[in-house]
Amino acid sequence: MGDKSGIEWTDATWNPVVGCSIVSPGCTHCYAMAQAARIERMTPATHYAGTTQPSKAGPVWTGRLALAPEHILTAPLRWKRPRRIFVNSMGDLFHEAFQDDWIDRVFAVMALAPQHTFQVLTKRASRMRDYIGACVETFHASPDGMEERFADHCGEILSMPTNEAATIFERVDWPLKNVWLGVSAEDQVRADERIPQLLATPAAIRFVSAEPLLGPIDFTRIRRFPTVDREYLHALAGRCWTDQTGLANPDPDWAFPGCRFSDGSRGLDWIIVGGESGPKARPMHPGWARSIRDQCAAAGVPFFFKQWGSFRPAIEGEQDWLIVDSSGEWDLPDHGWPEETQVAMVQRNKRRADRLLDGCTHDGMPGGPA
Ligand code: SF4
Repeated sequence: MGDKSGIEWTDATWNPVVGCSIVSPGCTHCYAMAQAARIERMTPATHYAGTTQPSKAGPVWTGRLALAPEHILTAPLRWKRPRRIFVNSMGDLFHEAFQDDWIDRVFAVMALAPQHTFQVLTKRASRMRDYIGACVETFHASPDGMEERFADHCGEILSMPTNEAATIFERVDWPLKNVWLGVSAEDQVRADERIPQLLATPAAIRFVSAEPLLGPIDFTRIRRFPTVDREYLHALAGRCWTDQTGLANPDPDWAFPGCRFSDGSRGLDWIIVGGESGPKARPMHPGWARSIRDQCAAAGVPFFFKQWGSFRPAIEGEQDWLIVDSSGEWDLPDHGWPEETQVAMVQRNKRRADRLLDGCTHDGMPGGPA
């Protein structure tokens, strides 16, 4: 579907592929699962059919994935006014079961619509790195090979003569300038797993969406290799460091053009933070959001505070508050106003919870004020 989006950091959503499977704790209350089931109920013949099945806990993914029909796949080509477009709110483009051929078609459309900015977000960071890295390497080794590969897809999905499409792809540089690549990371474990992969992926803009934020994240201390102690990335400043020697050697695997990490000093370009919404939402401790805001400010990286979600800090006079501690556990108060690392939060639906963090909105975007 190509729809005006209610997501604060984009203008429209576009779902060229649909379907997914649970990958980490951030997926537990996946909005897309429920939405896919709803679409199938309303339109049984849709390409969403069979992507979910009922369970006692509500709809769950079946593992069936589908490429959208052609009119959806090519929709951005008909949108003339430039938009920021969130790619795939109803699945994960880099899901291990999507064929490269499908991903190629999505990238062919993005290459043919340079008027738009496409925001691709995944939890499968290593597949994204492999796919994009291979595209960039192939392009630098043999631009003709890439022209042919993507021109063929244009012939298939757009009925465009291959030679006409090849002329367009002659002018396309990889990584695509109008495509931002991001990973979701809900806590430090997932940040350690996915951010090193993202930083090794060539892209015009690289970003992290920490939503739903389920624990603190220290972007200045990302474990460089999960199995190696005391080697870290300062993912915002773009450098490696060790407990022992300070600066570490650049990783030779990060030599893709467009990465520029370590020797060229290029870290993350944008961080989004948001709490979880929905009836079973888990609260986001305000200290986690404040810490990321402050890390971004210190590094000069744009910070976007998307939402509190279903829980926001209580304000004076509100009676129905809960105690949330710094690990995210919450309980009804059995004593007075919380102290130290505990905070009082109230559960509200998203519309009533606001987007203010300590009284300020944070709408930082790459290319805009941080
Ligand atoms: S990766 Fe995204 S779409 Fe897939 S299950 Fe997780 S939250 Fe849902």
